[in-house]
Amino acid sequence: MSDRLNLTNIARGIDVIDSGYYSKDFAAIYLLKQNNKIALIETGNNFSIPLVEKALIEYGLGFSDVAYIIPTHVHLDHAGGAGALMHRCPNANLVVHPRGARHMIDPSKLIAGAMAVYGEKKFREYYGDIIPIDSNRVIEADDNFTLDFDGRELTFIDTPGHARHHFCIWDKETKSMFTGDTFGISYRDLDRQDQVYIFPSTSPVQFDPEALVRSINRIMEYKPDRVCLTHFAALHPTPKVVNQLIEGIYFVSQLAEKYAIKEDAEAIIEDEMMNYFLNGLKKIGLSDIDFARERLKLDVQINTQGLIYWQKNLV
Ligand SMILES: [Zn+2]
Repeated sequence: MSDRLNLTNIARGIDVIDSGYYSKDFAAIYLLKQNNKIALIETGNNFSIPLVEKALIEYGLGFSDVAYIIPTHVHLDHAGGAGALMHRCPNANLVVHPRGARHMIDPSKLIAGAMAVYGEKKFREYYGDIIPIDSNRVIEADDNFTLDFDGRELTFIDTPGHARHHFCIWDKETKSMFTGDTFGISYRDLDRQDQVYIFPSTSPVQFDPEALVRSINRIMEYKPDRVCLTHFAALHPTPKVVNQLIEGIYFVSQLAEKYAIKEDAEAIIEDEMMNYFLNGLKKIGLSDIDFARERLKLDVQINTQGLIYWQKNLV
């Protein structure tokens, strides 16, 4: 039984796999199966590869059946395992945003950027070695690019705001939008009955609140039945959910505007942001505050770094 726990079917031909990155159910990989072909949306990190293999084996398939590997953007919790996975999947092409492609072909800047955020020791622990990808196997997906995935139409939409190298993927058949980090973060183990709590991801270094709100509105124009978040899994984007997310973007942006230049900006913003999120969770009925605080700790830290960077580098 426990072998099946990592693999949950959320719609026809769509399974979610826990990448194992950082902690349980923190970062998802979506496995799309069309006939006997596989597309993977997100890659987790190098250490996620055995979990992908296990999921493929459950279908009686293997790495050679993977046709596409599709990180929504090139932050390393999404694309860190792409090089190693491409190495294991000889028939796969990488589909990536045009602004992200060069970083997949030569990851040196990505590595340096992530080391600046995490420090070298944590970087090695989280990601291992980042492997370059042969440019001949890279497909750049512009806005509105359509991929024929063995008869299933996938449309790529340019969604800046979290990062300028971010696209979302629309699966017309199941009305599912794979939103990476554009549609924020929401953890299923913090749900209460039928209510979710959702909040924005503002990680360094390209957070742009206005672009982010535009991208969220653009996602909603498709009237998705479900948004498939990388952190973590699928939810139904009701107007209440969208409002909560957008209010969160405005709230954290104001925190940054107010405190980013203060000496102890990091501590103040982290504290205020955590309290805001915990209050939102209390409103939907969450009572285990210690669990929630621990669950959101890394997101609050990374969000704070991104907000301070944004304010200090405004042009
Ligand atoms: Zn992420």
